[in-house]
Amino acid sequence: MSTLPSQAKYVVIGAGVHGLSTAMHLAHKLAARGVTVGAHGTRIVVIDKTAIGAGASGIACGVVRNNYYQPAMRELMSHCVSVWESDPAAYSYHPVGYMQISPEVMHAQVGTIYEQQKAIGYESVFVEGEADSMRYMKGLLHDWQARNITSVLHEKRGGYANNMASMHGLARKARAAGVEIVEGVEVKDMKPSQSGRGIAAVETTSGTIACDEIVVGVGPWINSIWTMLDLPKTITIKGRDGKLNHGIPMWHYMALQEGTLGVDPNFQKTNDGAMPPVIHVDTDAPLHSDRDGTLITDKLWGLYYKPDFHFGGIQGGAMPAAVDRPADAVRVDPYGPKSPEFVVTDNFADMWTSALAFCQKRFEGQHGAYRKEPSGGIGCFTPDSFPVFDRFRENVYVIADSNHGFKMIGVGDLVADELLGGRRALLEPFRFSRYAEGRLHPVSNSPFPWS
Ligand SMILES: Cc1cc2nc3c(=O)[nH]c(=O)nc-3n(C[C@H](O)[C@H](O)[C@H](O)COP(=O)(O)OP(=O)(O)OC[C@H]3O[C@@H](n4cnc5c(N)ncnc54)[C@H](O)[C@@H]3O)c2cc1C
Repeated sequence: MSTLPSQAKYVVIGAGVHGLSTAMHLAHKLAARGVTVGAHGTRIVVIDKTAIGAGASGIACGVVRNNYYQPAMRELMSHCVSVWESDPAAYSYHPVGYMQISPEVMHAQVGTIYEQQKAIGYESVFVEGEADSMRYMKGLLHDWQARNITSVLHEKRGGYANNMASMHGLARKARAAGVEIVEGVEVKDMKPSQSGRGIAAVETTSGTIACDEIVVGVGPWINSIWTMLDLPKTITIKGRDGKLNHGIPMWHYMALQEGTLGVDPNFQKTNDGAMPPVIHVDTDAPLHSDRDGTLITDKLWGLYYKPDFHFGGIQGGAMPAAVDRPADAVRVDPYGPKSPEFVVTDNFADMWTSALAFCQKRFEGQHGAYRKEPSGGIGCFTPDSFPVFDRFRENVYVIADSNHGFKMIGVGDLVADELLGGRRALLEPFRFSRYAEGRLHPVSNSPFPWS
């Protein structure tokens, strides 16, 4: 295991998807310029307070898709999918495709996604109308029965990856390129440079490490690093109407609701005996409990699911729940399924298994197979729920993905270019200045904050 050196050119905080991907891509790009990476040359050191994949990346459902209403997100995701496709074995990536199945209220917006996917060469099929949507779905899965569906967007690329296997794959590739990964060391503070504007060193539980550049990829812990960097806790956002909205909290948390139906993953094969695409359904049809018939909701709701051998069943989730308290009052640790507060409840299990039965007959009466184990985890969101990728305090690059990010394996590639002095157009729409300048992303009708 690596120990913490006293100096490195690049210190990356967090061994999740963004920290590892940035470190790996940076090492490859430096090597391509003839620079020796490692203890006898330019050092890139990734520090994680626990271990590789100990954060959101290690528990993520792992869905990889392009389906976003915001053009900038779609273009970025297209790049990210190419990175997944570049080494599916190392990243444990399954390119089964992805389906967005929607009600009329989302029809027009999903239609624009399809048009723009065509424009950027991202292969997909768009089916419109209730009868044709039902026919298309039954052609794939004979027992399809979801109601109030008037469009199906079938992305032929994308799919899912196995969370920890992907992180270890990334870590292996990063180490092979000369990156040092130090686990069990926590960053506790930042030491300002002489001018006071930049950061000269990072203070950790294993001592101080001086560095030229810092990359922050700490997922749900971003609020604590933000505090160490002395960045603003509230911001001003220029609204679409041109009005300035002051005092908006920079960070808020939501609890992601996911679980597993403990059946053989082969239970969910297509009519042709193949593994199906990842399925995401939103609908405004009332949802009744598959257990006792009571009404669960008559508002717009959604779910996603896939057969997954790694989780050992049908795995997926539903809309996240708000965490109703200021970011500073949220206890992020212990994280994920170990959290005493932020794991899913019986209400989620009833809703999600009923939603499965709503979509496909084979899931009717299967609620008893729901695996009763702690699952889910919190995510830290920006004010508009879209990522911030930007430089702060002169030499600190923050990758704060607002919980969109397991699929964003390609962001590290772009960030690495920016660390080496370039500017990547795909990252421009995600700068922090967009809030003050009112360059906001369009908002979709989806019930999810990340569509
Ligand atoms: C339940 C769940 C399901 C999800 N499903 C999907 C999905 O299907 N598709 C998708 O695209 N996204 C999904 N997401 C979102 C995605 O997982 C995250 O956006 C992404 O993994 C964040 O990656 P990261 O590298 O920024 O942070 P993380 O993966 O959270 O890694 C951060 C690391 O930083 C370390 N760290 C934190 N603070 C410090 C410190 N002070 N010092 C040293 N180390 C520190 C942590 O130990 C951790 O290992 C899901 C999220 C959750 C919670």
